[in-house]
Amino acid sequence: MDDRLFRNAMGKFATGVTVITTEVDDEVYGMTANAFMSVSLDPKLVLISVGKKAKMHDRIKQSKTYAVSLLSDHQQKMSMVFAGQLKEDYEVIFERFNNMPVIEDALANITCDVCKEVDAGDHTLFIGAVTDIQIQDGEPLLFFDGKYRDIQSSTSSLV
Ligand code: FAD
Repeated sequence: MDDRLFRNAMGKFATGVTVITTEVDDEVYGMTANAFMSVSLDPKLVLISVGKKAKMHDRIKQSKTYAVSLLSDHQQKMSMVFAGQLKEDYEVIFERFNNMPVIEDALANITCDVCKEVDAGDHTLFIGAVTDIQIQDGEPLLFFDGKYRDIQSSTSSLV
């Protein structure tokens, strides 16, 4: 099967956008990801899928911990920074939450300890046991068909 067809089909699944963060030897690393899902309520588990070639992959294997920040509609730049989509360097000031670096002003920050790693082709699924959560009001940044969207523009394109 053609890779492009697979990618295009997956792009038809509208998602939110997250930034995954972790810390190794006091150095903070971030990566944009939309392969995030809630897995279980009891116990509270979430899952992220990280490409094996991403630097984040080995960082999480080392730290055994990660945080997920669910981005709001005014945080597209954060997503672009952590997806390597911006040419210029951009210094990000991380907030500390539950002793983890997180993106401030996100809709939610979720801290996790890795409890299971599942080898999945060119990605690894990191299942995280949730250790703490903080949330705030706002609208989500969306990703659909390879483009950033917001609820406003998505809604207006439907009518
Ligand atoms: P790098 O290439 O080292 O880091 C990525 C960028 O983050 C670099 O520009 C770097 O400068 C910046 N950065 C890292 N740490 C810091 C810091 N402390 N301060 C400031 N800047 C920093 N890939 C997946 O594996 N899984 C997914 O679910 C996924 N979903 C995606 C969803 C979207 C909407 C997009 C746009 C991309 C997605 N990607 C996903 C691709 C992924 O974000 C990129 O491949 C990413 O560049 C890989 O990062 P890396 O770990 O190799 O780290």
